Formats: sequence, structure tokens, C-alpha cells
Amino acid sequence: MKDCLFCKIVKGEIPSERVYEDDDILAFKDIAPAAHVHILIIPKLHIDGADALSHDEPKHAEIAGNLIMTAGKLAHELGLKDGWRIVTNVLTHGGQTVRHLHFHLLGGEQLGDFGSKLLF
Ligand code: 5GP
Ligand code: ZN
Repeated sequence: MKDCLFCKIVKGEIPSERVYEDDDILAFKDIAPAAHVHILIIPKLHIDGADALSHDEPKHAEIAGNLIMTAGKLAHELGLKDGWRIVTNVLTHGGQTVRHLHFHLLGGEQLGDFGSKLLF
């Protein structure tokens, strides 16, 4: 999508610190880390957010599975043996600021309670 920040990162028009890439998925370091390890895992295909995933779209189920499995693979490779978290924010109430589906992979330290106030 033309004016999408993460589509520009996929195309290399905006630089990022890439940590993993395959045909469908890109993972790169968050520019403003909320934890010692904070990686964004995104589909290369533009999908607005988790709310836009649809069984009517042929690749969506595969992509959704790949995103989560990539999180596990990266967590393992990064040595997050004591645990980690994946979060996806959706729309305004969910705190989504970039409207291109992404999972935050967070870890490398004790993460806060996923309580009423803490997003991460
Ligand atoms: P959201 O708020 O939509 O759940 O997450 C968007 C994330 O993208 C935020 O954690 C923010 O720090 C990150 N972000 C925003 N702009 C950039 C950028 O240009 N490069 C990188 N690497 N991360 C970004
Ligand atoms: Zn996009």
C-alpha cells in the first residue's frame, strides 16, 4: 500500500534493522523498544490489522500462522528461554498506531503484568 510505513520498510524505502526475512514475512527491530528485545514481525503483504484477517482471503490463514511461528523461532534463536510475549494492537482502542498488521515480540527481561494500564 502506497503510503504505509511498514510497506515502505518491506520495500527498503525506509531503513530498518532486519532480523529475519522470508518470502512472506519480515521481522525488524522496533525503533522505540519497550523491552530489551522488541521485534516487529509483519507480513510483506499489506493487511490492515488482525481485524482485517479473513478466511475469504486465500493467504491470510497461512500468513497468520507464519507470523506466530516466526515469533517462536526468533524467540528461540535469540535465547529467550525464560519467556517472551507477542502482542498485536488493533485499531484505536487497541492502541494500533501503524495500520499494517504486526506482532510485537517482547522479551529479554521480566515483562510487566498485562494488567489494565500496561500495554507492554
Ligand atoms: P503499534 O503502536 O501500531 O502497535 O506499533 C507500531 C510500532 O512501530 C511502535 O512500537 C513503534 O515504535 C514502531 N515504529 C514506528 N515507526 C517505526 C519505524 O520507522 N521503524 C521501526 N523500526 N519501528 C517503527
Ligand atoms: Zn502496509
